[in-house]
Amino acid sequence: MTQEQNNFIHNFIEEDLESGRYADRAICTRFPPEPNGYLHIGHAKAICLNFTTARKYGGKCNLRFDDTNPVKEDTEYVESIEEDVRWLGFEWAGLYFASDYFEKMYECAEELIRRGKAFVDDLSAEEIKGTRGTLTEPGALSPYRDRSPEENLRLFRGMREGEYADGEKVLRAKIDMAAPNINLRDPVIYRISKSEHHNTGGKWCVYPMYDYAHPLEDAIEEITHSLCTMEFEDHRPLYDWVLEALEWPAPPRQIEFARLNLTHTLMSKRALKALVDAGAVDGWDDPRMPTIAGIRRRGYTPEAVRAFCEEIGVAKANSTVDIGFLEHCVREDLKDKVLSRNVVFDPIKVVLTNYPENGPGGDGSEEMIMNTLDSRIRGNDSAGGGPEEMIMENSREVPELGERRVPFSRELWIDGEDFMEEPPKKYFRLYPGNEVRLKGAYFITCEEVVKNADGSIRELRCTYDPATRSGSGFEGRKVKGTIHWVDAATALPITVREYGYLMDGGGDGGGEDGEGGGAPALNKDSLCVKTCYAEPSLSDARPGERFQFFRHGYYIADGKLTSVAPDGEKVFNLIVGLKSSWKIK
Ligand code: ATP
Ligand code: MG
Repeated sequence: MTQEQNNFIHNFIEEDLESGRYADRAICTRFPPEPNGYLHIGHAKAICLNFTTARKYGGKCNLRFDDTNPVKEDTEYVESIEEDVRWLGFEWAGLYFASDYFEKMYECAEELIRRGKAFVDDLSAEEIKGTRGTLTEPGALSPYRDRSPEENLRLFRGMREGEYADGEKVLRAKIDMAAPNINLRDPVIYRISKSEHHNTGGKWCVYPMYDYAHPLEDAIEEITHSLCTMEFEDHRPLYDWVLEALEWPAPPRQIEFARLNLTHTLMSKRALKALVDAGAVDGWDDPRMPTIAGIRRRGYTPEAVRAFCEEIGVAKANSTVDIGFLEHCVREDLKDKVLSRNVVFDPIKVVLTNYPENGPGGDGSEEMIMNTLDSRIRGNDSAGGGPEEMIMENSREVPELGERRVPFSRELWIDGEDFMEEPPKKYFRLYPGNEVRLKGAYFITCEEVVKNADGSIRELRCTYDPATRSGSGFEGRKVKGTIHWVDAATALPITVREYGYLMDGGGDGGGEDGEGGGAPALNKDSLCVKTCYAEPSLSDARPGERFQFFRHGYYIADGKLTSVAPDGEKVFNLIVGLKSSWKIK
């Protein structure tokens, strides 16, 4: 991590350290999610930023559940958020619930009333909205604005005691109905809501509004720097007003940064919850989801996600990051970490007609072939003639990751992509009459294509040349293509789940509250389930174990669907392919 690099937030903090604004305490940040859904990769950006900033200055970072809204919150979400933050590799200094501060917040509201800075209003929500004014016209004063502090206190206590119905009264800050910033036009700071709260149950029937609660939560925890996303920039004057009105000493400083948006996905809990509720995905941890639970199940690593967050940096300007860059970070992290395995997709049977029926020893025992990781196999050819040649990111630096012995026999499976009956120019893999190398093994030549009645291929009858065994020192003919294979006698059928993007098009994910352009559509082809043939060692794959499937991509044994029993079903998720369409700018 390039933690040494300063961003504009660090510059602000260093300013405050120099001026002695928080002379008596260490730098303190917080990650304050509302427990109304699972965290997504956008939250990962905020998590990394808050935790690494605190670490950089030898300070601390809290995890705080911003649970001031009783109806949308749930303990399931609380648990998932804790798990996700830990998975990303961070440990909080303190774990807090904003709802634990309700009493303190209530006392502060009474204090504002006593100071003549808040009043109880009988106007309805619509009336308040209707008298708010516009960007060019001031709002109208509420007829209840001049109630005395004594009357306000009596009414506010009545609100707390449940004497009024939802919406009958609110508490408003008394600021300025002509303020150019509409957030300062006597904003509502308490409302009545007679609903059960996941933490406080039926104890409260008045709840603080976000803009009032948030500065107090930060101040109570002695946060020094309150990092939040740009949409709160216009709310900062109110944040500051609340603490100033209470004469809070050394109040926290709010600093805004741009939200992360990613192409081909959605970046809002509300929008993601809608997909879950509609059954459009297989829950919050569906591997297509941009949730942290989803990318964990998909096989992304915390290291890759942290590197991604570090690389995209923080800025004030909103922008949309190409999802290909996230995939690039995952590939970079995995390339020197995971073992190689041979897996054949869309299998075609190859029969080596001149290979001894009972194995080379004649005793029925299988020949074992040493497989190594051959990073020189870079795409072989232009893959059947598509216009753009994709880059293979297969330059692994740890050859041991590929070393193992695999069985070889007279019948093999090869990849559907590695045979063409009528090949285009520059196709160097198998076709009738052509010779290729079987990776780590022998040269074979395709002599005959045997078909089923429906015209599909039943098998390829090939001959092999015993003199060409890999590592034998054979220096004769050269072949242009090398293909991988799996021994048919011991092949393990596995289920492979290939994922495409969640959303079609390059949508910016909807942004905050669905802003930001037309709604991108769900990609209907985002899941493709296949049966493939793997070398037998994959029968030991444990749930959560990652591999490179040679020439295909990185895969993880699905944590939910993979059986722990060696003979149980093995289900693998595509983490990311080997080919990258993303280019370093
Ligand atoms: P959502 O709309 O997805 O629910 P939110 O902002 O309402 O997002 P919170 O639970 O309030 O979600 O967010 C917790 C913290 O994470 C906040 O400080 C918020 O600013 C930050 N955050 C949320 N989404 C993003 C994002 N896309 N990029 C960066 N930070 C984000
Ligand atoms: Mg929110």
